[in-house]
Amino acid sequence: MKKLSFIKRSNGGHWVGDGFPVQSIFSYSDIADKISPFLLMDHAGPTTFPPTQKKLGVGQHPHRGFETVTIVYQGGVSHRDSSGGGGTIGPGDVQWMTAASGLIHEEFHSETFARQGGPFEMIQLWVNLPAKEKMSTPGYQGITVDQIPHIVLANNAGIARVIAGSIGDATGPADTFTPMNVWDLRLKAGCTLSLELPSGHTTALYVLSGALNVDNQTIEATEMAVMERDGTELKAEITQDAVVLLLSGEPFNEPIVGHGPFVMNTRAEIMQAMQDYNNGKFGQIVSESSRP
Ligand code: MN
Repeated sequence: MKKLSFIKRSNGGHWVGDGFPVQSIFSYSDIADKISPFLLMDHAGPTTFPPTQKKLGVGQHPHRGFETVTIVYQGGVSHRDSSGGGGTIGPGDVQWMTAASGLIHEEFHSETFARQGGPFEMIQLWVNLPAKEKMSTPGYQGITVDQIPHIVLANNAGIARVIAGSIGDATGPADTFTPMNVWDLRLKAGCTLSLELPSGHTTALYVLSGALNVDNQTIEATEMAVMERDGTELKAEITQDAVVLLLSGEPFNEPIVGHGPFVMNTRAEIMQAMQDYNNGKFGQIVSESSRP
């Protein structure tokens, strides 16, 4: 049985660009060793945007050394990157972007969502790459809602959408560099959640809405239960209908040196990343109109 290790609460709110009012749930500067292979997670919204003709979000910026995973719950987001990846994702869709050796991307509200306005909620998770993969080729996986298997949970506790990893025979569509599970759980009040997860792996339950009881501790919206790595069974009492993101993964204990959008293993690699970016080695976003 996995025991509760500690409850991680938000580091506070801020805006990412002019499109994403986020709670910073964790980052590699606070619980890096306890949450490996995950580096950082921001929860945007839930909030409501009025209709606008403006392009809200974050303009071109680089990343190197990890992956960004964007899960849309409400609203819509459009991305483009210098590796040629990009697309528009809506509720239930996921973008799994591998920055690896480096790319430049932009993240905006989708045009359709911006014009209509309405409720908006999104998670952005940063997944670390092991040292030997940090300079791999960048990639982009646009995962649509219909590609993500739905599983009915034990005790009829609700459903799991398997984004990465597997539950029984159901395997999530995301290709990952190291073993991990990323599951979108929709849980029913009054039921008991019971999950089997690998011993030795980092395991955490992040509550987007509703509430759970883990080891007699209440975990509410914007709180994350980080479990001990020992044991395989994870149990929680669902006290209010809940939307929960389960993160589990094989930890790797490599040094982390981060600077803004770059997360590497050494200070020298960060200096190199800045130099490469300044020398234009991260490529360029090819605009729609100039595409052949
Ligand atoms: Mn970004």
